[in-house]
Amino acid sequence: MLELRDLSVHYGAVRALEGVSFQAAPGGITAILGANGAGKSSLMRAVSGIAPVVAGQVLLDGQDITALPPPARARLGVAHAMEGRRLFRQLTVEDNLRLAWSFGARREKLAASLAEVYARFPILETKARTAAGLLSGGQQQMLILSCTTIRNPRFLLLDEPSLGLAPIIVQQIYGFITDYAAKSGIVVIIAEQMAALALKVSRQGMVLRRGRVVLAGAGEELLRGRDGTTLAASYL
Ligand code: ATP
Repeated sequence: MLELRDLSVHYGAVRALEGVSFQAAPGGITAILGANGAGKSSLMRAVSGIAPVVAGQVLLDGQDITALPPPARARLGVAHAMEGRRLFRQLTVEDNLRLAWSFGARREKLAASLAEVYARFPILETKARTAAGLLSGGQQQMLILSCTTIRNPRFLLLDEPSLGLAPIIVQQIYGFITDYAAKSGIVVIIAEQMAALALKVSRQGMVLRRGRVVLAGAGEELLRGRDGTTLAASYL
């Protein structure tokens, strides 16, 4: 279980998050929605330990981790795919995967973990010896997701996985995320500007506006709106 209690993140005078609380149980996806600058990334950074939390608490399975540095949180199973597809661009696809695996829980042998990734995204096997920086945007997102999940996380944070991708690739990426969440039974949090996309696969959702929660509820409930628009979309 991931829990935020009355969490505030400030960057100097900028109040990125103000008194945000929520709980996310394992075995389902939570969508964090909001326009540019609403505070979605700050929320994720607060969980992985790289945002300036000025008040409130972050708890993992009841343990207060607010004071723990990022590596200690990673050891507890927090994995954060940040916005902007951060990869080792000069390293090959396979070396990125090896490195990510070496930082993780290593439940399976490397060869088995790689085989699983390549079965899921065959294009990554074709490009195994290509520098990650030379991949297309969609392939990079596949690699990011593979690097993040090859670590066998217990709390998976995905920041805008659809950003800048063609619709067909977005479908593929979301297909993977949905499958992975269902099979792994872990806590998955997705920050997304495309509300309907994320809500369709989420058990619960939350809309942020200027750092505050303005709407929260079950995924389906937030999807149901008037005039064909989602309820959540009308709050963005
Ligand atoms: P985006 O989709 O653009 O990333 P977001 O919803 O993720 O938006 P945040 O990145 O969390 O929003 O930003 C929330 C607010 O905090 C914004 O006003 C942003 O300008 C500000 N902010 C974020 N990071 C910093 C920083 N390092 N220093 C100062 N202000 C920041």
